[in-house]
Amino acid sequence: MDSPRLASRLHGLGTTIFAEMSALATRTGSVNLGQGFPDVDGPPEVVEAAVEALRTGRNQYAPGYGVPELRRAIADHQRRFYGLDVDPDAEVLVTTGATEAVAASLLALVEPGDEVVALEPYYDSYAAGIAMAGGVRRPVTLRAPDFRLDPDALRAAVTPRTTTLLVNSPHNPTGTVLDDDERRAVVEVACEHDLLVITDEVYEHLTFDGHMHCPLATYDGMRERTLTISSGGKTFSFTGWKVGWVTGPADLVRAVMTAKQFMTYTSGAPLQPAIAQALALGDGFYRGIKDDLQPKRDRLCTGLADVGFEVFVPQGTYFVTTDIRPLGYDDGLDFCLRLPQRCGVVAIPHQVFYDDKQAGRPLVRWTFCKRDDVLDDAIERLQALRS
Ligand code: PMP
Ligand code: GLN
Repeated sequence: MDSPRLASRLHGLGTTIFAEMSALATRTGSVNLGQGFPDVDGPPEVVEAAVEALRTGRNQYAPGYGVPELRRAIADHQRRFYGLDVDPDAEVLVTTGATEAVAASLLALVEPGDEVVALEPYYDSYAAGIAMAGGVRRPVTLRAPDFRLDPDALRAAVTPRTTTLLVNSPHNPTGTVLDDDERRAVVEVACEHDLLVITDEVYEHLTFDGHMHCPLATYDGMRERTLTISSGGKTFSFTGWKVGWVTGPADLVRAVMTAKQFMTYTSGAPLQPAIAQALALGDGFYRGIKDDLQPKRDRLCTGLADVGFEVFVPQGTYFVTTDIRPLGYDDGLDFCLRLPQRCGVVAIPHQVFYDDKQAGRPLVRWTFCKRDDVLDDAIERLQALRS
């Protein structure tokens, strides 16, 4: 229930589902396939770089835009993987995770009453960020079974009040990686209506089966209107470090900085040089993340199908979505709230990520960024659903 003193623009936002479900997992001793965080740390040399930074006096305020070596590393990363030319001194802002980058971008660039078109199911911080900015959310629903972007639905969502597109690919929670046709549809709409585009690309390196992520900023007409957001959390398996960034044209990045400086002033200093080193890791590392994660995806998808769920195999991210109806359930929220008692497993109901609650009602999200024995344990526990 909302606090009685909660400002009206935050009404209904409650407690994030990830905190709620992780607390439920701890309380019930369940296997937590809810919140997306790996149970094995990232590269030890990156941890060592953070320790080194802590020990060598990198402990005072970082510059507002982020430490220079991280800004350079982010610019190098954008050139190396996408051929994007980014000026590290004016077109990169380091943030406290992608979450702050999204919130600061919306606060800086959305006027009260502006409409923001976002892919639905949407990551929950988008709804909060749009609400805090006083904007109005306009969802474009990605529908089962394939969760593709329908260009007509996208066009229909845009009105004269629309100023911003908020796009997430690879997409949490569906695992969709937008393909070239879908990206071109976004580009066409953005250019035709002169929209600002904010893209959340935190799963940029977590794609499978040869699907490749390609930033919208690489398309003609997009660089000057796009803020590209990512973070080190998912790529390097340090979700608790909360080192994120936004890149884009200098005027837009400066606007985001104006909001960011009064949210956190600057972001944690000693982890920044470590993430700079991480970004420069060799191609083998980046290949290795996919090689490690794809078999886990397959392991969990196979297990969930074996239990009896309809499984929608994701092209990217940490997550697989299932339909629970083949097992005789139809309300994912109710199902997820009872699952810990029933089986000792925690998952995330899709419906909290939708305005169109019906579309999300039978869908449940599971994370596979866990050790194999943890995934196997979860599947074994879920067999109880068959009885
Ligand atoms: N965007 C999406 C789509 C996410 O799944 C997450 C969760 N990591 C975030 C943003 C937040 O990233 P960070 O932890 O870097 O704030
Ligand atoms: N992004 C993670 C997920 O979708 C969780 C991050 C969070 O707890 N806010 O599970």
